[in-house]
Amino acid sequence: MTRPVKIALVYQSLLGIYGDRGNATVLGKRLQWRGIDHELVVVEPGDAVPADASIYLLGGGEDMAQVSAVSALQTDGNLFRGLDEGAVLFAVCAGYQICGKTFTVGDRDEVIEGLGLLDVTTERGPQRAVGEILTRWSRADGTTSLITGFENHGGYTTLGQDANPLARVVVGVGNANDGSEGAVQGRVIGTYPHGPVLARNPDLADHLLELATGTTLEPLDKPEIERLREQRIEAVQRGAR
Ligand code: GLN
Repeated sequence: MTRPVKIALVYQSLLGIYGDRGNATVLGKRLQWRGIDHELVVVEPGDAVPADASIYLLGGGEDMAQVSAVSALQTDGNLFRGLDEGAVLFAVCAGYQICGKTFTVGDRDEVIEGLGLLDVTTERGPQRAVGEILTRWSRADGTTSLITGFENHGGYTTLGQDANPLARVVVGVGNANDGSEGAVQGRVIGTYPHGPVLARNPDLADHLLELATGTTLEPLDKPEIERLREQRIEAVQRGAR
């Protein structure tokens, strides 16, 4: 028997204020619809992070929560072990920033060392990026999809040589420095959009599941999800940000 796909939602009460825990629900549901067993582990600060998850999720949060989360993850160490074993990490906004080399917090822009999983650095930008965001995501095979979500961040992110952008900004701010959005390095993916982003973008959810399971998943026919997604995309294309 194959073991259930283990999804670890990490530090929900620190990095959960933008509803990104919905990403875990979406992944679980899309597995369930296909008859694939999964196990959701909600890890709170003070709990040990499982070292054997297939997918780790980090969400958005405030500056000080980011500092606590980095320190707890460094001390725990199991996220690094899980990634060494081939797990996938999907990190949103604050979660994305802490995966980088450094990020800044507070009015005095204190520089905090990140987890070093992505070759990116984040510093406070000239103005906070708030509103709907639409990006175009290019897969390795050359196909592309739009990604819809909303962004709310003060940090602007610069990619180093070892990280590739996840997508290009169509509407909104994203990484903010060069028209790119998010970063990919190996099996670590960071991105700014909330939504939850996997609810609005089922292709991205299935991409994570395929990476994590090493299988090609059959498509799901869910017209209501597609309709909602189309509405969001049309609204942002009409200029509602
Ligand atoms: N505190 C970070 C910033 O403002 C992250 C915010 C968030 O997760 N939405 O850049």
